[in-house]
Amino acid sequence: MTLTTPDRESLSIPLVPFSARDRPSSDIINTCVHCGLCLSSCPTYRETGLEMSSPRGRIYLMKAVDEGRIGLESEVFQEQMSQCLNCRACEAVCPSGVQYGAILEASRAQIEQARERGARDPAAPGALPPRPLWQRALRGVVFGGLFKDMGLFRAFSASMRLYQRSGAQWIARKSGLLKLIGMADTERMLPPINASFTVPRGQIYPAEGERRYSVAMLTGCIMSTAFANVHEATIRVLQKNGCEVILPPDQGCCGALHTHGGDLDGGRELARRNIAAFEALGVDAIVVNAAGCGSTLKEYDHLLHDDPLWHERAAAFSRKVKDVHEFLAGIEFNRAGLGRLDVQVTYQEPCHLAHAQRITVQPRTLLTAIPGLQLREMHESALCCGSAGVYNVTQPEMAARLGARKVDNALATGARVIATANPGCALQLAGELRRRGEDVQVRYIVELLDESYRRGGEG
Ligand code: SF4
Ligand code: SF4
Repeated sequence: MTLTTPDRESLSIPLVPFSARDRPSSDIINTCVHCGLCLSSCPTYRETGLEMSSPRGRIYLMKAVDEGRIGLESEVFQEQMSQCLNCRACEAVCPSGVQYGAILEASRAQIEQARERGARDPAAPGALPPRPLWQRALRGVVFGGLFKDMGLFRAFSASMRLYQRSGAQWIARKSGLLKLIGMADTERMLPPINASFTVPRGQIYPAEGERRYSVAMLTGCIMSTAFANVHEATIRVLQKNGCEVILPPDQGCCGALHTHGGDLDGGRELARRNIAAFEALGVDAIVVNAAGCGSTLKEYDHLLHDDPLWHERAAAFSRKVKDVHEFLAGIEFNRAGLGRLDVQVTYQEPCHLAHAQRITVQPRTLLTAIPGLQLREMHESALCCGSAGVYNVTQPEMAARLGARKVDNALATGARVIATANPGCALQLAGELRRRGEDVQVRYIVELLDESYRRGGEG
């Protein structure tokens, strides 16, 4: 692997180093002993066979920037920080405990901050050429607008619903317009926005029977619009398990897209908002039904570790966060009320559940508790499906390869349902199944539990 940038060196232009703010930790980088045990877990390495597309290769690149041997302007560095899925499969298997996610997110933040410096003043020290204007505008709308203002997000979702139901989507697809503007693959991922696309917020749902727990639930952004039905199922399942469920007002997006995309300040702003919205409730747990959101909430303490006013509050908040499967499997959960579902299900493990939160047993415990349900394990269930936030947009080719690989593995089981627990995975799998014309459903585990309780109630 070449780690030099001869053009720049020969012109004596100084390399662009990591800056002090949000610098990837040298200690973490140097924890890597280059053993290579993570390589076979890495989806991009499995697809390409290239060392530089492996965790070890990417850590080498970070180390090279950290030690001043290459700069942030290195194309291979930027490409590899972008091509990484942040799936954290490498982190889960690393014997040295390298906190890969933390140094990846900091590296991406370094690139974005240097590009922003370049947008303000191209000649400023530590500046990189800015993103093209349209990309800056798009990031501004998405990161700075839609995902920060839930009112705006719901309005956007409503317009997407209109697009889908008015026939405009049919025309755009059939006319070839989407292909012409290069949006066909991205548009295919757009989920059907269901009828009840907002979950009432600021509400309390009482426990069914005796109240055993009081829990608060994150409603988030896309989960509260495209997956509002999953929220409703989650609330019913929690109620069946003796939980009073509180949806606090003033909560918002968890900030995962921001932190994964190099906008750590945007993520911090959303983290502070959520902490303030939840911390006074005195609940037993803050329950999350989306893997990516759960892992982000559990890491607010790390995100705000440099903020003396918020770090303790963030740590107290993160300690209360429970993934819904973790929560249910951790209590004496209501098995008696489950009714029969005669269905073959395969489980695809969301990366931010299996690797970032190390939750692998509990989803299977819940699935196999459903009478009649047959769980058929797929090959590579924990290998990333290629969704990874906006990865479909930034790395469409690799995303498509991984999506196809995952669906091949799922279909090989003969299951009629793919169970998951994350919106990105659900969209990625459903998009690939639709492309192939396969009549296989993608469902959240809580939806299957909800249906099973309903059948149990009928019996
Ligand atoms: S990240 Fe961990 S597993 Fe991978 S090469 Fe480094 S020490 Fe080994
Ligand atoms: S986070 Fe995932 S894609 Fe990135 S290096 Fe680790 S295993 Fe590979």
